[in-house]
Amino acid sequence: MTNIRPKSSIRAISPYKGGEAKVAGVRDVIKLSSNENPFGPSEKAEEAWRKSGHELHRYPPSDHKSLIKALAGQFDLEEEGIICGNGSDEVISLLCQAYVGEGDEVIHTEHGFSMYRISTLAAGGTPVEVKERGRLTDVDAILEACTERTKLVFIANPNNPTGTMIGGNEVGRLAAGLPPQCLLVLDGAYADYIENFDGGAGLVESRDNVVMTRTFSKLYGLGGLRVGWGYAPKQVVDVLMKIRPPFNLSRPQLETAEAALKDQDHITKCRNENARLRAWLAEALAEHGVMSDTSCANFILARFGSEAEANACDLELRKEGLIVRKVASYNLPNCLRITIGDEPSCRRVAHVIGRFKEGSAEDPTVKADVTP
Ligand SMILES: *Cc1c(COP(=O)(O)O)cnc(C)c1O
Repeated sequence: MTNIRPKSSIRAISPYKGGEAKVAGVRDVIKLSSNENPFGPSEKAEEAWRKSGHELHRYPPSDHKSLIKALAGQFDLEEEGIICGNGSDEVISLLCQAYVGEGDEVIHTEHGFSMYRISTLAAGGTPVEVKERGRLTDVDAILEACTERTKLVFIANPNNPTGTMIGGNEVGRLAAGLPPQCLLVLDGAYADYIENFDGGAGLVESRDNVVMTRTFSKLYGLGGLRVGWGYAPKQVVDVLMKIRPPFNLSRPQLETAEAALKDQDHITKCRNENARLRAWLAEALAEHGVMSDTSCANFILARFGSEAEANACDLELRKEGLIVRKVASYNLPNCLRITIGDEPSCRRVAHVIGRFKEGSAEDPTVKADVTP
């Protein structure tokens, strides 16, 4: 018998669950559960990936200089403020490791991304959940929840899984109202879906308490590659660089991400197609009484009358090989998060949900009795 135990905050963690990719007994599934780009990455990125396997015995560059230069050029940023991570999850984790310890509090919102809580607990800190207002980040509620122990505030803008976002004035008011020891982290995983939106980069530059995180996993179609980055004041980057693992990105990761970044035609195409299909799907579902907030991202959060109805609809979708995301663990039990796929996928989702709603209207066991 041993007495080997992790630190107590680790025991409170339930491991992160990714979107499912399989349904037993169904062959041709369409995965709409992880907000992946249905069109995949740029062909130029795929080509860079194929060519990047040279010199596998050599360590990759650890300064990420070439990718950082490309990011700074593309988004008009200061190179010194950029740090690259193995997915933006790594940047989130580094922020928690660097700024959070025992007794420190980290704020996330009611329907916020689960990695904020996990990384906070991993660092030994205490996650503090703040209510949203109608599935929208509530700046006043966050400011009220701040104490002298609050070290980080995480908001995703646009948020996952709600798809909603708050405006620049609200984000600015939040940054300006935080206590002096607290850093605001703006998770911009979905910022790329909004044309001409800087994700908060301007605020990072104009203040000294704001960090932005970004990723290649969503619009850039590279979830399998694991590349993300952060933009932060120089003094924050200096801190994170002390604990960032050296060589945290392999040469294939670096070269593929850079090639993807340079094909902005592909990015524009994917962004436009997502916006078109998102509007179409939201309207198609609304015609069947399934409402959603206007989404700013690559998914919609479909609201059902009850948890039972959402689960029954999920089952129906699965039977047809359509895998969407249940979001009960995000305090949204009567909702399903549906990634915007390509056009045939969107049509199939609309068809199955429409059929389900027509059937369930006559079925008293799945009565829609609560309006969210
Ligand atoms: C998908 C997602 C990320 C991206 O994580 P990576 O580690 O970069 O793949 C970060 N934040 C939110 C809110 C997300 O939905």
